[in-house]
Amino acid sequence: MAPNPLFEQVFEELGPEFKKLIERKVGKYDPALDTGEDSDDEPEEMLDTWDIERYLGEVGAPICADEKGRLHLGDVSEPCVGAGCRISKKCKVGRKVGSFHTHPLVGVWPSPQDISTSAYENETFFCIGGRLVDDKPYAACYIPKGPFYMDPFHPLFSFSEEPEGHIRFWRESPPPEAEDLLEIMSDGDLAREYGDEFEVEGETDEERGAKIRQLIEESGDMPDGFFENYESEGEMDTLELYSPSQGERLMDEAFRRLAMFFKTEGRYL
Ligand SMILES: [Zn+2]
Repeated sequence: MAPNPLFEQVFEELGPEFKKLIERKVGKYDPALDTGEDSDDEPEEMLDTWDIERYLGEVGAPICADEKGRLHLGDVSEPCVGAGCRISKKCKVGRKVGSFHTHPLVGVWPSPQDISTSAYENETFFCIGGRLVDDKPYAACYIPKGPFYMDPFHPLFSFSEEPEGHIRFWRESPPPEAEDLLEIMSDGDLAREYGDEFEVEGETDEERGAKIRQLIEESGDMPDGFFENYESEGEMDTLELYSPSQGERLMDEAFRRLAMFFKTEGRYL
């Protein structure tokens, strides 16, 4: 099969950046992370936020193209955990064409949510990086073959091999961000809720609120007042822990399963 020019370009222009992020942010395979889901004992659970971030944290960044079409990574968001991973939708330079994120455990096949987010964002392609055999940095990229609808509950990855273990952990929903807040609150709401914090001048709530909106937009930060009454939500979740030696075989299996929907390519970096 002729090499795909986009994959060639992606690995050439972004491979070194992928590699750096993986080396910095993805831990090596550690069988001790198994929390014993399959044993008869009560499974241990990973509840400590610090542990969860350290062992299961992900980083992500938009992939941007400049006016000559050359690719670079945009601002890196970190750390985030699973569904909490929000990749910036904007590029400071150029336009967003795709995204990159890491997976903390062996296996850089996309989750159903990775697939739906990428489709929703109209990405031309996306890449996922992690560690595989001998903990070597590895990335796989996915180019959708066309618009498609996929049942997110479709058992895309019921692999032929059982994982070595499982990790039970507390998955906290990420708090909303300034962008989300501004979308749901009117200017009047903003003034009534955060007027004390911002102390802006104005005749009416609407006037003051418009100024507060501008300040929040400029800083991109949530008002401090928001967190006074905020309670985080979450639930227990389970991740499958595959060994590095399973990794290569299962990547091939994942590529075969995805072949209907994606062109795929994976490489050691
Ligand atoms: Zn993912």
